[in-house]
Amino acid sequence: MKESKNLNDLIDALTILPGIGRKSAQRMAYKLIRSNKEKTLNLSDKLANITKNISNCKICGIYLDNEDIIEQTDDNCHLCVAQNRNPSQVCVTESPADVYMIDNSTDYKGYYFVLTGSLSPLDGRGPVEIGMKRLEARLEKGNINELILATSTTIEGEATAHYIQQLSKNYDVRVSRIAFGIPLNGELGYLDSETISHAFNERKDL
Ligand code: ZN
Repeated sequence: MKESKNLNDLIDALTILPGIGRKSAQRMAYKLIRSNKEKTLNLSDKLANITKNISNCKICGIYLDNEDIIEQTDDNCHLCVAQNRNPSQVCVTESPADVYMIDNSTDYKGYYFVLTGSLSPLDGRGPVEIGMKRLEARLEKGNINELILATSTTIEGEATAHYIQQLSKNYDVRVSRIAFGIPLNGELGYLDSETISHAFNERKDL
C-alpha cells in the first residue's frame, strides 16, 4: 500500500523536535492535517518567521527580533547595552530562556553569556559547537571578576560547568556554580522562580 509521501516528509521533519520520536511525530502530523487550514498555515508562517526575522545577539547570544537589534560596533541587545549592570559579573547559561528565568527571579544585575546548549560529544556538541570560543574571547577582554555557571545539573550541564571551570584557570576570574536547591538532573526551565532565586543566591565558588 502506498503511503502519502507528503505526509511522511512532514513526519520526518517533525522528528527534529526534542523528545519526539516517529510515533509522536505521526500523531502530530495527523492532528495537523485534521486542524483547520488557517491554524496550520499560521504555524507554518511562524516557523518560516523564525528563520527570517530572529537573530542571536552577537555578544550574549539571546534571541532577538531583527528589528530590536541595536546597531553599534556589533549587533547588541538591550541587556548588553544596559549601562546600569555590573560588567564584572557574567552568568553563563545553556539557553536564552534561562536568562529570562534568572533575570526575572533574582536581583542579579550582571551580564549574561548564552551557550548553544551543553556539551554532548555523542550528539556532536563539542566545545566549539556550543560557543566556547566566544566565551574565551569574552574572558580575554579581562574585565570579568566572577563567572557564574548556571548550566543545568544534568550530566551534560555538569560536564559543561567543569569544562568552563578548567578553561577559566587561564584567566584571573572567580568561578561560581549555582547548585543549591536544584535537583539532580534539573534543567532550569522546569524550576519555579523561588528555587532559581535560592540556587542563584547560594551559589558556591568552584
Ligand atoms: Zn546581548
